[in-house]
This record gives sequence, C-alpha cells and structure tokens, in this order.
Amino acid sequence: MKDIDGFELSPKKSEYLKYLLEKGDIVHTMDISQHFNLDPSTITKTIQEMSLTDFIEHIPYRGVKLTTRGREFAEFLVRRHRILELMFSHYGLTAQEACNEVLKFEGLVSKDVVDKICNSLGHPNMGICGRIKHDTCCCCPKDNIWSING
Ligand SMILES: [Zn+2]
Ligand SMILES: [Zn+2]
Repeated sequence: MKDIDGFELSPKKSEYLKYLLEKGDIVHTMDISQHFNLDPSTITKTIQEMSLTDFIEHIPYRGVKLTTRGREFAEFLVRRHRILELMFSHYGLTAQEACNEVLKFEGLVSKDVVDKICNSLGHPNMGICGRIKHDTCCCCPKDNIWSING
C-alpha cells in the first residue's frame, strides 16, 4: 500500500477498522457498538463518515465490511501497533505495558516511519499481541532498486 501516510483515519476510526479486520466478515453496527461500549447512534454516525472513504462498504440492513483497500489499511494499522510495541518491549517494557503505551500514540506515527522501523527490526513475523503481516511497502523491492541506483 504505497499511497497512504498512515493518518487517513482518526485513532478512534482506526480502532473500528482493526475490529472489522479481526471479525473478518460483515459486521453488524450493533456488534461494533457493543464491542466499544458505545451508543448505536454514535457508531452509525461514525460508520456513515467512514463510508465516505474507500475503506469500508456499507451493506444495507446487514452491516459493514472492509473493502480490499480497507483490509490492506487495517493490516497496516495492526502492523504499526505491533512494530511499535516490539520496539518498546526491546527497551524494557513488559508485554502489557508496551501494548498499552503504544495504544496511546500509535495514530501519530507515519507509515514511512513504521516501514523504517519494521525494516530495521528485520520484518519480524510475531508481535506481542499477535502476528505481523508485511506488505509490499515495508519490504518493497522497488525501493531497494532506487536506493541501489542512488
Ligand atoms: Zn498490542
Ligand atoms: Zn516489514
């Protein structure tokens, strides 16, 4: 995913997107509101705003699901969380501390920075709270060719 900077969604909306990825299929708005302990009308409003992006698709009477692009973006969001978490855990935080701490600021870290840290950590496959999936960006052959050619 090359044409994103990581700031496409607010932190709150990013959490919804990660939840949709975790669920994997069509998710009813009611499930989202229950999971996040929020009023259904709040979620409905947010979902309407998110439908304006090309990340989610609203299926009338059934709920919402990720588009292909939304799935890729959600996978990036998860990678951002887990890469930063690993970085913190390397510097003495416990797994739980690292996970909680990163949740506070992950939305402020750009994709470019995440890709660089991912690269310097050697593209680890396992994070503290789950697997890390890499995309063609963080291990991008095209970027390597550019850097070789100067
Ligand atoms: Zn975590
Ligand atoms: Zn990577």
